[in-house]
Amino acid sequence: MQTVYTFGGGANHDDPRARDKTVTGGKGANLSEMASIGLPVPPGFTITTEECVRYLQHGADFSDDLRREVTKALIHIENTVGKRFGDAADPLLVSVRSGARVSMPGMMDTVLNLGLNDETVKGLAAVSGDDRFAWDSYRRFIQMYSDVVLGLDHGLFEEALEIAKEDRGYFTDTEMNAADWRSLVAEYEAIVKRELGQPFPQDVQAQLWGAIAAVFDSWDSERAKVYRRLNDIPGDWGTAVNVQAMVFGNMGDTSATGVAFTRDPSTGEKAYYGEWLVNAQGEDVVAGIRTPQYLTRRARELSGSDKPSMEEAMPEAFAELARTFELLERHYRDMQDIEFTVERRKLWMLQTRSGKRTAKAALKMAVDMAAEGLIDEKTAILRVDPMALDQLLHPTLDPEAPRDVLGKGLPASPGAASGKIVLDADTAETWSAKGEKVVLVRVETSPEDIHGMHAAQGILTARGGMTSHAAVVARGMGRPCVSGASQISIQLSERTLTVGAAQLMEGDTITIDGATGEIMRGQVPTIEPELAGDFGTLMEWADRHRRMKVRTNAETPDDCRKARQFGAEGIGLCRTEHMFFDAARISAVRQMILAENEAGRRRALAKLLPEQRSDFVEIFTTMAGLPCTIRLLDPPLHEFLPQADADFEELSRTLEVSIDHLRRRAAELHEFNPMLGHRGCRLGITYPEIYETQARAIFEAACQVTARGGEPVVPEIMIPLVGTRRELAILRKLVTETAAQVFAEREMQLDYLIGTMIELPRAALMAGEIAQEARFFSFGTNDLTQTTLGLSRDDAANFLSAYVEKGIYARDPFVSLDIEGVGQLISLAAERGRAAQPGIKLGICGEHGGDPASIAFCESLGLDYVSASPYRVPIARLAAAQAAL
Ligand code: ADP
Ligand code: MG
Ligand code: MG
Repeated sequence: MQTVYTFGGGANHDDPRARDKTVTGGKGANLSEMASIGLPVPPGFTITTEECVRYLQHGADFSDDLRREVTKALIHIENTVGKRFGDAADPLLVSVRSGARVSMPGMMDTVLNLGLNDETVKGLAAVSGDDRFAWDSYRRFIQMYSDVVLGLDHGLFEEALEIAKEDRGYFTDTEMNAADWRSLVAEYEAIVKRELGQPFPQDVQAQLWGAIAAVFDSWDSERAKVYRRLNDIPGDWGTAVNVQAMVFGNMGDTSATGVAFTRDPSTGEKAYYGEWLVNAQGEDVVAGIRTPQYLTRRARELSGSDKPSMEEAMPEAFAELARTFELLERHYRDMQDIEFTVERRKLWMLQTRSGKRTAKAALKMAVDMAAEGLIDEKTAILRVDPMALDQLLHPTLDPEAPRDVLGKGLPASPGAASGKIVLDADTAETWSAKGEKVVLVRVETSPEDIHGMHAAQGILTARGGMTSHAAVVARGMGRPCVSGASQISIQLSERTLTVGAAQLMEGDTITIDGATGEIMRGQVPTIEPELAGDFGTLMEWADRHRRMKVRTNAETPDDCRKARQFGAEGIGLCRTEHMFFDAARISAVRQMILAENEAGRRRALAKLLPEQRSDFVEIFTTMAGLPCTIRLLDPPLHEFLPQADADFEELSRTLEVSIDHLRRRAAELHEFNPMLGHRGCRLGITYPEIYETQARAIFEAACQVTARGGEPVVPEIMIPLVGTRRELAILRKLVTETAAQVFAEREMQLDYLIGTMIELPRAALMAGEIAQEARFFSFGTNDLTQTTLGLSRDDAANFLSAYVEKGIYARDPFVSLDIEGVGQLISLAAERGRAAQPGIKLGICGEHGGDPASIAFCESLGLDYVSASPYRVPIARLAAAQAAL
């Protein structure tokens, strides 16, 4: 296998391996490609990533093939440039650059001006006619090589330079003249000798191979390993090495260097964007030693800067650069991020790659480029990362507005929220009912806080990670959330809290930013998201190309409306228990739970029936004939139990039983492991009147809305936590009989479906049997993940991050479906369900329904729909389209 590929000059660029990123890395492949389309690229060669892997496997040993091919390739550079490497009279200088498949911080930094030594520097001075330039280049080289290859502390060199300037009374590097640089070089050489016990390498071949080895070795550096782990980059890719003839941006005022984007990477606007510096070399632009200048006249004028733009200062080189931008965009059909250097008026291209961009810019560029005919609709759809849309759907903080940051937590749910601090859920609800905007601040949240979270603009917690209750629920509701802000302490009795050094009271206004985790004093102004325009266009294209339907998980009319605005095509999961948590109803719910017998339960349920019915009327009305899957009551009963003494007292008065008695009954209901306890269809089996009442509320509401003449409602009733066919058979009979009764009473007939959630491994395995009783399956992947992995979502936060860090799980299995494991159960259940009942409707609900990787898996199984929380609906629409392409 060829180990080295040359580019530039007369090199042959036809071998597809030379332009294959997996072989020559991102930088190398693009250098070869730019040269092949005739752009001015300084000649050079790329050592393959395969050689890096080989070298590391063979205990840091270069192969004979590599030595031979590098020698040959160096001759290619020499012949093209007309200089010899190590020639004391007219030396060839090169840069040595690392370049993995994807750009990767942690890899070796570039070494420039390699090939200089005490002799060649004199040749360079003579040939260029510029002593200062030659000695400046040499000192740069010693500094970089010592830092990057020899591993010396760069501070030593910077300090020496500072002292040299101070001694001479200079403020800037540009004041240093040739003699100054020359004496600094002598100092640098002395530093190397002192630190290493050996002189700075004078043999140019030793310099070159030292740098190549350093690039290879950097693949296994700690920094690189950490970065790979965090970004799912395999350890066996290796990095390529690029060796390239130097071009000099530091040869006086007709030379320059710069970086540029072919479009604005933060707004997406079709305008060149970049920075440049006169008389400077590569890293100077980013290093911040001198302030770079604007590229275009327009950008300079907008900024009010008086330093000339490149367009003004070097019009010819700029014109050629602009032509190159157009050529590169047409060639790559994407926005490019470019490095260039001008040496004595001549433009050289040193790098190009697809540029990173904000979500907003990605959207704009995709739509614009499709309109320009640069890409087609499908490509445009694939250009936007669905997850990035999340940033665009929520109000965000006005970047111009001042902020007084008090502390920081985890960015748990995006968006910004301002409001008065409230310290418990009930206060959140009362204040918000009075029209106040509130931010709920808790140590952590639990299911009893749901109504307060709903009422609040945002949620802030002192404890809990990215998958804590607060984080998961807030993301589901589309509420901004900052979790785990450990500088917060709450003094509940005084109704105060401290954030770091700041003392705040309930009622004080704060702002939280769920995208950064920042907590700010007062109200920071926000800007509203733009849902029409480019966003609307891209969504329309996505809808044209997707097969799966996208529904939403929603239980309030507000959420339903939001979800429909975002394009939901129905409800995939309406959790009825959330309706039970409502403050006005909780007392009736408690009566039902604590009742001694069926008669007592029925009395309480009679109070709940009209409430539930009116909920469903609102939801059906809002959804206007779209399918609605309603799940009957699921959570363990104890979640509804009274906690506070006052609650017990109130209940004792309404029920006319003693407090002691109620407490005993509550104790009886205690469960050691409620998630595996008396919940889901087990409630329906033991207390059929609960499900009967819910079914009645649903059918009565459906009749009412349909009778009003709207689109006929087709309710889909979903029985949770089924593990056996018999459970579903019993409850199906109950629901069917209830429907028949309601239809008889109302003298009308409606279509409806009864189905089940598949959320227990047994249900997945027995799907063939269960399908005999079900018209649809909805994969409840939250519980299916818990039960398959034997991992409690509420308790896993403590160790899950360690598991992800150690690579035991690639990602949090509650965020992205464990396709390997849980995915098998889903695939098997889909297959067995379809075999038993062809045409059975299949969908997924739960957090995974809004996760692009999980959505792609659903598409591969041919599921009918995914269901996601309202704010995830656009993400799901785009991800479903991408999966279908
Ligand atoms: P990075 O990946 O960190 O950008 P690069 O290898 O692209 O590293 O280079 C760092 C800097 O050195 C860039 O500004 C680049 O343009 C410049 N550079 C690299 N090779 C050369 C060369 N042969 N001639 C002139 N400048 C170069
Ligand atoms: Mg670069
Ligand atoms: Mg469940």
